[in-house]
Amino acid sequence: MQNDIHLKTKISALPKIELHIHLEGCISLSTLKFLAKKNGIEIPKHLAEKENIYFENFDEFVSTFYAICNAIGEEEDFKFIVRDLVDYIRRNNIIYTEVSWTPLRYLQKGFDFAKSMDVMNNEIAFNNLSDTVYFIIDTQRDHGTDVGNFVFNKVLETKNNNIVGIGMTGYELGYSSSDYAEIYERMRDNGYGCTAHAGEYGFANNIWQCLLDLKVKRIGHGIKAASNPDLINYIRENNIHLEISPTSNVRLRRVENFAAHPIKNFMDIDLNIGINSDDPGIFNTDLNDEYMNMIDAFNIDIKKLKQCNLNAANAAFTSSEKKQTLIDTLERNWN
Ligand SMILES: [Zn+2]
Repeated sequence: MQNDIHLKTKISALPKIELHIHLEGCISLSTLKFLAKKNGIEIPKHLAEKENIYFENFDEFVSTFYAICNAIGEEEDFKFIVRDLVDYIRRNNIIYTEVSWTPLRYLQKGFDFAKSMDVMNNEIAFNNLSDTVYFIIDTQRDHGTDVGNFVFNKVLETKNNNIVGIGMTGYELGYSSSDYAEIYERMRDNGYGCTAHAGEYGFANNIWQCLLDLKVKRIGHGIKAASNPDLINYIRENNIHLEISPTSNVRLRRVENFAAHPIKNFMDIDLNIGINSDDPGIFNTDLNDEYMNMIDAFNIDIKKLKQCNLNAANAAFTSSEKKQTLIDTLERNWN
């Protein structure tokens, strides 16, 4: 126990990089209750209680996520969520993060994209984190390519907003990622990094579509690659980065428990992976907890956790100079 406390203190103090985290997923229970009250929204009972929530299927998770979105009534409300994000970053000693935001639902209710980004970035700047927090703008695969174009055009129309990449969430089964090939190409040509959730609810085929047709170098989750040796070989040979989120996979019942997670096998064969929390507010977890859970489940050597951070630094959608600065910080502190 003493060792655990000592180790947790050490892990908490070490600088970390996180590439897979959703803005609304960072919301604290108190902020959610505050925003719901402010905007006259009732939040679902299971969110209001918010002990360790499990989701039996993706519909349940999506409706929970939308319940949080519904509590956000105007652009200014994002400042409160960013404050939770700031607390999270400080608690977990995160030196660089790319935060995903899925704007469609807000744009549909009349929010201004640029104004929303300004609210977020002003709060981030106020907290001196403009060199730490960057954004990935997501579309949902099941919403179709017209929506994808609509959302990503907003990205192209606004400047100086700390947006470094695009991503794709939403349902995998029954929706082809390949339909988005042109959109991804256009955004890549405009200098944006590209990632996509795949192989979470879907299968190896869904990952292949993203790698071969969207030509992404990063995959959100990707855990279903574990069942396909050809795909694992491709991922290794092409240095594809997998944004692994163990707690999310357990809570959404993608794996039975931490011990059943493929992350240990991925580490053993030196796959390019990082550790993330996905939606720490919803799952009531922290990035520090993710590291401790992996140590508890697999007795993972701290050197492997360092490597996950180096992998994330190299996979970040940022300049080579910035990557080197991050790597230098990691090397100085993780020893
Ligand atoms: Zn995610």
